[in-house]
Amino acid sequence: MPIYEYECSNCDNSFELVRSINDDDKDLKCPKCDSSEVKKLLSVFSSSCSSCASPGQGFT
Ligand SMILES: [Zn+2]
Repeated sequence: MPIYEYECSNCDNSFELVRSINDDDKDLKCPKCDSSEVKKLLSVFSSSCSSCASPGQGFT
């Protein structure tokens, strides 16, 4: 499940949400000020997945 990071244009609050593809950006509001003026920053799947590209790890 992808984790999306958002930033509120209203109060500059940044927050992360786990959303499915089907959810898209509908009904997206800032949890802090309840503004819908939020923008998507980037999507990160897992910080631990940086090791996924390391040779010799996994699949052994
Ligand atoms: Zn906000």
